[in-house]
Amino acid sequence: MKLKKVDEQIAKLIDKEIERQKTSLEMIPSENHTSSAVREALGSVLTDKYAEGYPKKRYYAGLEYYDKIEDICRQRAKKLFKVAHVNVQPYSGSPANQAVYFALCKPGDTIMGMSLPQGGHLTHGWKVSFSGKYFKSVQYGVDKKTSLINYDKVEKIAKKAKPKLIWVGATAYPRIFDWKKFTKIADSVNAYLASDIAHIAGLIVAGVHPSPVPHVHIVTTTTHKTLRGPRGGIIMVTRKGLKKDSELAQKIDKAVFPGLQGGPHENNIAAIAVCLKEASSSGFKKYGRQIVKNCKTLASELLKHGFDLVTKGTDNHLILIDLRNKGISGKEAQNRLEKAGITVNKNTIPYDPNPPFNPSGIRLGTPAITTRGMKEKEMRKIASWVSEVISNSKPCSEIRQEIKKLCQKFPLP
Ligand SMILES: *Cc1c(COP(=O)(O)O)cnc(C)c1O
Repeated sequence: MKLKKVDEQIAKLIDKEIERQKTSLEMIPSENHTSSAVREALGSVLTDKYAEGYPKKRYYAGLEYYDKIEDICRQRAKKLFKVAHVNVQPYSGSPANQAVYFALCKPGDTIMGMSLPQGGHLTHGWKVSFSGKYFKSVQYGVDKKTSLINYDKVEKIAKKAKPKLIWVGATAYPRIFDWKKFTKIADSVNAYLASDIAHIAGLIVAGVHPSPVPHVHIVTTTTHKTLRGPRGGIIMVTRKGLKKDSELAQKIDKAVFPGLQGGPHENNIAAIAVCLKEASSSGFKKYGRQIVKNCKTLASELLKHGFDLVTKGTDNHLILIDLRNKGISGKEAQNRLEKAGITVNKNTIPYDPNPPFNPSGIRLGTPAITTRGMKEKEMRKIASWVSEVISNSKPCSEIRQEIKKLCQKFPLP
């Protein structure tokens, strides 16, 4: 029975959301548009069965094809990221990180990560998250002048705190990570080093951001950001990781199941497999390169319009704008841009003088609009729209119409 017949209310709202996506610019850097192939796997009968355990070691019967699908997914992830072991069962990025803690740490152990207001993630030891509550968390950040990671300071903090686990990765850092510097720091205190590439996995696959794999013990990622798959998480163990701890792969698998989760979402795992196949194509490499080209063009145009960008620009898929010189808060900018048809999110800037629920910045990125096929020419147009909205020099309703027109030329996948 079709959804429209069973539940008209939900069907109508989904249709409305499709229309919203079609006619506006999705510029939240952690979001993307999935292919219809990915969504077909996601909406399949694979959601029906329990598959607790791992391929060939399951607790339920009838899993012949589920085993094959999860195995294919694991093989593809191993090959694409060049790692020794993968676990594709985490429900999302946060549960993936949680499993890493459960595999390596006991409650009360010292861990270290980048602080949330300076670009890190909740799960890297921020106080309101389990990671800051159940572990002794020490946090590093960025330099006050340059807004870049201050590696000397990171080293000092690590040497003093001697953490068991160090996280490197971020949600709002527009520059490239120097994995090697983190390796040196982690090795000097004999810590496990985990890189969380949730935002940049697609850029790494495309070769436009260096891979952490040769330098770290563990890599975690989401599958739904630049990697362009369904919502999900993957944990990877590198060769370096196995060298440090020969039981690391088993520890991770046990932490995911039965440590943290029950039945894996195999429809999701099938859709991740499809996304990994798409990500290993030459077209995806081109896509990743274009994300960065678009973002750099957008950044240089925004600078021309007088915007103050954190770190003065970008190396990757995202831009952080410090709006203080424009006399508008992040929240108001987000709301006004939404009215015009540009979806961004309010965000703290490093050393933000304003509170997190009303921060001084916005974060925007190019993964989703690049998926639609937009290029440098469209970025110039978007920068001038953002400028018009923020300076209030043209009504949002007028810009909304112009954006609708542009969107018609760039259909969703
Ligand atoms: C998005 C993100 C996560 C968490 O992913 P969820 O799927 O939202 O749980 C973890 N770490 C980083 C760096 C992220 O950007």
